[in-house]
Amino acid sequence: KQVLLEVKNLKKHFSLSRKTTLKAVDGVSFQIYQGETFGIVGESGCGKSTAGRTIIGLYDQTEGEVIFNGKDVHSLNKHEKFQMQKKMQMIFQDPYASLNPRSTVREIISEPMEVHGLYPNKLERLERVYQLLEDVGLNREHANRYPHEFSGGQRQRIGIARALALDPDFIIADEPISALDVSVQAQVVNLLKKLQDEKGLTYLFIAHDLSMVKQISNRIGVMYLGHLVELTSSSQLYKNPLHPYTKALLSAIPIPDPDIEDKRERIILEGDIPSPIDPPSGCVFRTRCAHAMDVCARVKPEWQEIVKEHFVACHLYNGVETSESVGPKINM
Ligand code: SF4
Ligand code: MG
Repeated sequence: KQVLLEVKNLKKHFSLSRKTTLKAVDGVSFQIYQGETFGIVGESGCGKSTAGRTIIGLYDQTEGEVIFNGKDVHSLNKHEKFQMQKKMQMIFQDPYASLNPRSTVREIISEPMEVHGLYPNKLERLERVYQLLEDVGLNREHANRYPHEFSGGQRQRIGIARALALDPDFIIADEPISALDVSVQAQVVNLLKKLQDEKGLTYLFIAHDLSMVKQISNRIGVMYLGHLVELTSSSQLYKNPLHPYTKALLSAIPIPDPDIEDKRERIILEGDIPSPIDPPSGCVFRTRCAHAMDVCARVKPEWQEIVKEHFVACHLYNGVETSESVGPKINM
């Protein structure tokens, strides 16, 4: 497996005033392999969107590194950064807000190509727009219409076509289906999968709900209050979640088959997410964790690879042997 993107101890803090700092992303590390979909999941305010925006270079980082294709995203000069934009694109949650209402679909999709001087021949560029519309399940008749003439799902398709215009390798999709009707969500996920196969794309797929990332992700990282708390393959995360927060998120997903009796215990998380301005000492999850121990308030749990390719930050797994039989069993 080839690493396309490596995030090393990434921090993004916003200073709100002289004395208050919002630690939106507070030290996350992970790698994304070429051709995979890496999901990041967490409740709103956990820092997942900020992480995405910092990774793609829309925000400067406070600390840490983002290495894309062997280059540090945040130490590129202007020209290199401009070149890198071709390879890294972003899709947003609200397609309507991200499309200029006064531009036609043709203009919206052409713009990145114009900016980067691709397809300078107007006819060729128009052909390219038509091709992109077809790639995303729209057609050339749509080219001269305006965003408001489309449904939410169609607008997201337009956003995807625009992201594809520069032929990128890597796309960050920030909650691309959260604002869509449930019936449309699966269609957009299927489209993203089809495009991934056809074009060899790598995705970072951000969502607030585990059921949304499950369909598309090869691996999933779970974020809480600016930190990654667990990271492993999708199947492993569903079969053998380790972190108490992941268990709580999973227990909230209904079992789809009505013939299977749902024997799981619902884990209700008490209280709200603490403020990232004044996060808890030690483990950031401790104020809502049913298993919190004394040590959890004093010591920040280490990010450890407990089993191969299964990372977790939780004191319950301290001193656990690296083997298939993973330590303390917690009833779900
Ligand atoms: Fe809960 Fe402690 Fe693990 Fe944090 S480190 S998740 S408080 S048991
Ligand atoms: Mg967000």
